Amino acid sequence: STPKPSSAASDVYKRQGAGKGTQADLISAELGIPKISTGDMLRSAVASKSDLGNRVEDILNSGKLVSDDIIIELVNDRINQSDCKTGYLFDGVPRTLGQANLFLQNDIEVKKVIDISLDDELIIKRMSGRRFHIASGRSYHIEFNPPKAKGLDDETGEPLIQRPDDNEETVKKRLKIYHEQTYPLVELYKTISKPGSLTHYVEIDGIGSIIDIQTQISENIERIAQLLVLSRL
Ligand code: AMP
Repeated sequence: STPKPSSAASDVYKRQGAGKGTQADLISAELGIPKISTGDMLRSAVASKSDLGNRVEDILNSGKLVSDDIIIELVNDRINQSDCKTGYLFDGVPRTLGQANLFLQNDIEVKKVIDISLDDELIIKRMSGRRFHIASGRSYHIEFNPPKAKGLDDETGEPLIQRPDDNEETVKKRLKIYHEQTYPLVELYKTISKPGSLTHYVEIDGIGSIIDIQTQISENIERIAQLLVLSRL
């Protein structure tokens, strides 16, 4: 029989997605460097109804990408904060060739690219079944990790929500955008990744438990500062 995970590990098992956000949190904790997620930053701008939030809300809900200028400004502001002095981990940025060029122009290095790859079909299934408890950040999946009571958080009994951009149609649109705008960046990183090069590209199979994927990633990262986690979603 499979060994029972310790209680600490079972918290990790329960987290949903095995996507880039989850893995980025784990790497960030392991290396003790902050995670810079432009997706999280934009969502919190929307939630706080700031000027930026109002400008990007419709774009986020539709699954399109916000403009490269907005992204580079967010990133530049963030990496100049003191907790980024010893390094940082990008989650989902740069996501276009334009952003990668702006990174170069601003001397923002990306040393290790971790590409978590997963079939479109599986992504659609995983994303469209995700549900979140906003206040705690706990996440569920209607099929793979259902809450004890349908639609309700296990701990508080409060209602779970679906991210507006996680509905199936929007996920499909996000994947189309990934193939058109982000995949060329993956090809670029693959091409420039050679022994002696500054940037190293690693592809990680996104199938498997969160722990399996984390282990594969850990085996692939030495303790280096600037990392990027890239994946379809
Ligand atoms: P994520 O949580 O990384 O999936 O990002 C959620 C949404 O935020 C995306 O669908 C985009 O609308 C926007 N976003 C996040 N990061 C970027 C980026 N680097 N470039 C453009 N748009 C982004």
